[in-house]
Amino acid sequence: MLGTASQAPTRYRNHNGYFLRWDDAGILFDPGEGTQRQMILAGVRSSSVTRICVTHFHGDHCLGLPGVVQRMSLDGVSHPVDLCYPAGGQVFVERLLGASIFAMRVPLRLMPVTGDGGTVDEGPPHRLSATRLDHGPDTLGWRIEEPPGRSMLPDRLEALGVRGPDVGALIEHGTISVDGRSEPVTLEEVSVERPGQVMAFVMDTGSCPAALELARGADLLVCEATFANADAELATRYRHLTAGQAGRLAAEAGARRLVITHFSQRYPDAEVLLAEASAEFADVACAGDLLTIPVPPRAVPGQRPDSGARQPGSSSWPAGVRPK
Ligand SMILES: [Zn+2]
Repeated sequence: MLGTASQAPTRYRNHNGYFLRWDDAGILFDPGEGTQRQMILAGVRSSSVTRICVTHFHGDHCLGLPGVVQRMSLDGVSHPVDLCYPAGGQVFVERLLGASIFAMRVPLRLMPVTGDGGTVDEGPPHRLSATRLDHGPDTLGWRIEEPPGRSMLPDRLEALGVRGPDVGALIEHGTISVDGRSEPVTLEEVSVERPGQVMAFVMDTGSCPAALELARGADLLVCEATFANADAELATRYRHLTAGQAGRLAAEAGARRLVITHFSQRYPDAEVLLAEASAEFADVACAGDLLTIPVPPRAVPGQRPDSGARQPGSSSWPAGVRPK
């Protein structure tokens, strides 16, 4: 969590900014003003960024783009970096990237997303898709999906006599011949499908079906909760979510962990927002600047994933990670 404030930063919250480490990929979401310095404080090197996703072009989601891109150029980042954004913001991308004098060295690939979104990058290593949200300006939410894999079943392998290097060969080729069996052993006989993990990023939107679609079954849902429930009228007027709505979204979507963020400066203490979201959904983390929040561990194959929807009010957060 590089920054967690909405429109105006505060003494304790920087403008938005989120960095997701996902295997070898590093995805920077919505770099608001000051993101370059927040990255230094968080120990995120500019070379760790492989993709930048911008939801929309209000300043709290993009004013840090010039600084981050210029820093990547200064650091000589030589790998391609994809900049994904709603196509309606093209003019702002051009202005932000041309905001001041610098030598553009990073191979930045512009990937404007038109219409209502869809698959932006099929991968590997992951599938990136976008869906139009309800916020006024052209706004997209993002979803990252790992492809499904397979989990080996040790008891089945043992029972069919597949051992040692044969296991690797079976994974590689899909079948293997075993002494004493006329038919080869197939991968399907000794493993089960393991669903890929999913992260969803829902920022700056009124309550809408698209938010639910993005969040469906997400292991980690990062969601705006700009307003407290008492200010629901403001949330509706400015097309934002209340903390209660964010919690209900996570519950309805069957998400596993919810991170609420993008707080209005009117709440110096986000405890009320955490309480309101937690009344609707169990596993809620209240974002704080420079906080690291883990994607929940992979669900065990054959067992129902542990959805937080069932036990509101009892978070499964490990001690020491939950912010004060
Ligand atoms: Zn915003």
